Amino acid sequence: MHKPHIVIIGTGGTIVSSGTTGAQMTGYSIQGLNISNIVAAVPALNEIANLRAVPLFNIGSCNVKLSNWIKLALTINQLAINSDIDGFVVTHGTDTLEETAFFLHLTLKTAKPVVLTGSMRPATAISADGPLNLLNAVRLASSEDACGKGVLVAMNGQIHSARDVSKTNTVAVDTFASPSSGPLGYIIGEQIDFLTQSIKPHTLTSEFRILEEDAAQAFPEIDIVLLHGDENVDRLKACINHGADGIILEATGNGSVPVELENVLNSLEKKPAIVRASRTGSGPVTQGLPNWQKMGLIPAGTLSAQKSRILLQLALHKFGNRTTELERVFKTY
Ligand code: ASP
Repeated sequence: MHKPHIVIIGTGGTIVSSGTTGAQMTGYSIQGLNISNIVAAVPALNEIANLRAVPLFNIGSCNVKLSNWIKLALTINQLAINSDIDGFVVTHGTDTLEETAFFLHLTLKTAKPVVLTGSMRPATAISADGPLNLLNAVRLASSEDACGKGVLVAMNGQIHSARDVSKTNTVAVDTFASPSSGPLGYIIGEQIDFLTQSIKPHTLTSEFRILEEDAAQAFPEIDIVLLHGDENVDRLKACINHGADGIILEATGNGSVPVELENVLNSLEKKPAIVRASRTGSGPVTQGLPNWQKMGLIPAGTLSAQKSRILLQLALHKFGNRTTELERVFKTY
């Protein structure tokens, strides 16, 4: 039987972090370990695939920047051309795993499986979840069933699409969920069960791509403004004044925009691209009031604010601030 060749790209996170005792579950840090050490500590991985570990970065994922996403996309695209490589696992801190996954989902140009995973407990913890998550991710990346499904996330025995997955709990091992759509499937021992798949375009069918010459500084600046009761307009004004090209309103409910904010936006001669997302965590943001539509405010659909930010950044980079094009992009992806 053909034993697949899987590249495991390490980027850091809790999966390579260490505490001082087995009972330490928070307050740990990345010390001497990188992904090569974790792979070496799980010999069962070698029964599934031929592995190559590539420690690309070794950072906590709250530090991950657009420049890291670009480097990761270029690295995977380049390696994917190699016919000897069957699939990829990317290990990542869980905090921003969903953002890296979505960026890759929109920009990679391969049908080979790309699976992100991480852990909620450090490598030194009793019942660390990293080794099993890694084993499941390698199993998924080795499976033909995972081809052409876009970037996948394997955590806690579930398979999620990069488009819909979110970290939903600060500490629990079952933190990853796709609140608006549910998981794509399950990994149970050797068995991989896909139940469904995302119908939105991704990877080879996405119109976005990263080129060698793409530098992070050349991409537009997008801010997220969290809205709340007792809202005032100062943060929105601050974003506009510092020159944001796009702003995601992480608004209340179904993307509601307070009248005071509308007034600020209407007073501008040239306004940044504005997307209405929701802070509720699930469900679609719909077209909303006729005046919001007239103002060109773009509904995020079921994308979270942080994923809307990535899509808007890629779309503004490609098309500039053209409302019809941006609306189409948000309807499509
Ligand atoms: N702080 C970690 C991170 O890099 C959390 C984790 O990996 O679970 O996101």
